Amino acid sequence: MGEIELGVLHGDGIGAEIVPATVAVVDAALAAAGASPIRWRELPYGRAAIDTHGDSLPAETVDALASMAGWILGPHDNAAYPAEHRARTAPGGRIRKQFGLYANIRPAAALPGIHALRPDLDVVIVRENTEGFYADRNMAVGSGEFKPTVDVALAVGVFTRPACERIARVACELAATRRKRLTIVHKANVLPLAMGMFLEACHAVAREYPGLHVDDEHVDAMAAHLVRGGDFDVIVTENMLGDILSDLAGELSGSLGLAASLNSSDTQAMAQAAHGAAPDIAGRNRANPTALFLSAALLLEWLARQRADRRLHDAARRIRHAISGTLGSGVATADLGGLASTNEFTELVLARVGRRG
Ligand code: ATP
Ligand code: MG
Repeated sequence: MGEIELGVLHGDGIGAEIVPATVAVVDAALAAAGASPIRWRELPYGRAAIDTHGDSLPAETVDALASMAGWILGPHDNAAYPAEHRARTAPGGRIRKQFGLYANIRPAAALPGIHALRPDLDVVIVRENTEGFYADRNMAVGSGEFKPTVDVALAVGVFTRPACERIARVACELAATRRKRLTIVHKANVLPLAMGMFLEACHAVAREYPGLHVDDEHVDAMAAHLVRGGDFDVIVTENMLGDILSDLAGELSGSLGLAASLNSSDTQAMAQAAHGAAPDIAGRNRANPTALFLSAALLLEWLARQRADRRLHDAARRIRHAISGTLGSGVATADLGGLASTNEFTELVLARVGRRG
């Protein structure tokens, strides 16, 4: 099995702390699992790249990413860039669009030792990442918002059947590896053409997976069910509803510092924490690296499937166990009410990654 080259993009704020910590944890997990080491390639990105290359996402970074199966993306702090570099689409969004990373996978599961509003929650939200009402990401229409008069604004939502079908397929494949339950979330009662097509396309694809239990919910009902409890497994939904529901689910399961995400196409995947650059605590050795550790575990699992390499899967499992063990032992960073610094927390996770079991 050949060596894998992955990109490393530090980004802004706490990225300088949590990204190197994540690389160290992945290296240790691969070694413990007996997998080939990864060849990491650092690429300019974010505020530092504006200073050195005049662009927060330089062309040389885009060119390098094009040849890679995956990468780890640190957070960006678009709001802090000089005005002429403050793009309408932040650099993370530009990467997603450039590489057509259409599937956003956002698990929400409570971890040991963490006070969660829903300690029993264990769901994965599969969010369509390229269409819907995100005007700046819509490939088909350029800008999806316009004002026919000063007092009237229109927003176009784009839904295409191929995009609905491919996200449904990702969700079905995932559900087949979990508790085999798929819930399609929509608002087809008010948007019968657009979300109606999303709903219909998801059901059509799901019929190809007879082993799955499939149902659907309106997003408002789903929000209530998530808070009250209910046995959901994989939830597939369109872009904006997925953005909102995944924050809700993330918060119910713990905190922002724990919320992982993976953005993928059929050929590439990007690990990215759900939180931002947290400039208020940057450079103070206080950031919680857990969300990015868990995002990297999702990337390893994606690579494991792609390359049919169980050792990559084992490495991911080791990262998850090490995080659960560390948090379960009562060690936590300040955002969770603990006393551990980023470095102390990382060292404890590193020590557990290599343990048996
Ligand atoms: P964005 O627009 O990029 O989402 P934001 O300002 O909404 O940025 P964050 O940068 O995620 O959000 O920060 C929100 C709050 O959560 C801040 O107080 C920040 O310190 C805290 N926070 C976010 N991520 C972490 C983390 N990994 N560890 C500790 N605290 C964090
Ligand atoms: Mg935010």
